[in-house]
Amino acid sequence: MKILTIRRRIMLWYTTLLVLILVSALPLMYFVLSNNLYNDTKTLLHSEIDEVTKTLVFDDATIQLDDNLDLVEAGTYVAVYSKDNVLLSGKLPPDFNLRAQPVLGSIYLEESDGHKWMIYDCSIAQNGETSGWLRAVKSLGSVDETLNNFQTTIYIIIPVYIAIALFGGFFIKRTLSPVVRIARTAKQIGQGDLSKRIHLSHSHDEFGILAESFDQMLDRLEDSFNREKRFSSDVSHELRTPITAIILSAEEALDGNKEPEEYKESLGAILKESRKMNSLISQLLMMARSHDGKYAPEMEEIDISMLTQTIVDEVSERSEYPDVSILIEIEDGITMLVEQTLYMRLLINLIDNALKYNIPGGWVKVTLASSENAVYLSVEDSGIGISKENLPKIWDRFFKADQSSINSSPGLGLSIVKWIAELHGGTVHVNSKLNKGSLFEIRFQLK
Ligand code: ADP
Repeated sequence: MKILTIRRRIMLWYTTLLVLILVSALPLMYFVLSNNLYNDTKTLLHSEIDEVTKTLVFDDATIQLDDNLDLVEAGTYVAVYSKDNVLLSGKLPPDFNLRAQPVLGSIYLEESDGHKWMIYDCSIAQNGETSGWLRAVKSLGSVDETLNNFQTTIYIIIPVYIAIALFGGFFIKRTLSPVVRIARTAKQIGQGDLSKRIHLSHSHDEFGILAESFDQMLDRLEDSFNREKRFSSDVSHELRTPITAIILSAEEALDGNKEPEEYKESLGAILKESRKMNSLISQLLMMARSHDGKYAPEMEEIDISMLTQTIVDEVSERSEYPDVSILIEIEDGITMLVEQTLYMRLLINLIDNALKYNIPGGWVKVTLASSENAVYLSVEDSGIGISKENLPKIWDRFFKADQSSINSSPGLGLSIVKWIAELHGGTVHVNSKLNKGSLFEIRFQLK
């Protein structure tokens, strides 16, 4: 079965409505108009004949009509007959051809020679006795003319109605064109082209608002889709490097007889790359948690002054950069609601970066302070600093200012720091100058 489009359905509805109006209202109007016209003519004829009968002149055996012609309108003829149907006075229209036999007391219509007449026959009484009868004949020419004019008007109205219906179809097509555009765009998007937009910005009606919301939703969708795509390719890229290194080391170890020392070296390299992969996977897991936005941290009130001190001590102990000194300035007894492991991850990421991007003989300073309603944790370094154009990008996933293979870290550390800070009601701030050093500060708002 063929499905009717909305446009066709609306057109069908209003065309049916127009046809109904045409076939019911116009004949009804015609009927009411002709009825009124005939009734008015009847009433007029009645009153005219009332006046005429009052002025009749009775003379012996004859009955004469008064000569006063003002009593009846032009087009009304009056004749008086005797009881034996002999014309006594007055006259009827020349083209009037009608039997003389009267139908007394009633008004009726007759057609003679293509002309319509209204006839009124009434008896004439003198001293209580019928002495003759009177016939009044009124032309219905003006009534017919009015009705004909009305009919002509109806014939003009019909093509106007058809024109309105056609214009309505065109108007509906225009009004519904945005819907067609939206549907077409949705189809193209369904076929995999996420870059398509409706672009109905010139229209401010309901369709315009719908199209704009649709476009905005698509912008967000495309953006998140692209981010996911970039994320997957970045993850594959980051995993490929350690896996290639592991395969190479394993192949080298299996290639011919090797000294125990050489096996040890290969296994050491494999272990190092596996640890890197392990760390990358745990960071990715954390990213996944941050990404779905539903992670509920297990907060506990912790003395973060002590915790910060412990973390700094541990990092200092296992530091791969012994020539970079770690300074510490911690206000005692600061407690805060935190998820301990996340707080540790945040601080370790910041200190690791400060050590990693430092210069030989440089320093790192960790500061923890509090005010009435906030706690400030900062990690400052004397390292290489960050250029102005890179500064806004450092919080992005997989961003590395130095893309060379020397920087083997995946570029996830700071985006994890930002997520953890925000999860704890904190905000991240950075101040950095190339070749001078950087200052990362987290402001935790206390509730
Ligand atoms: P990565 O794993 O590469 O350290 P991060 O997300 O921690 O990833 O940092 C992103 C980038 O920001 C780094 O690659 C580096 O270029 C820059 N960066 C981060 N911390 C510092 C710092 N303390 N000094 C200089 N550059 C930094």
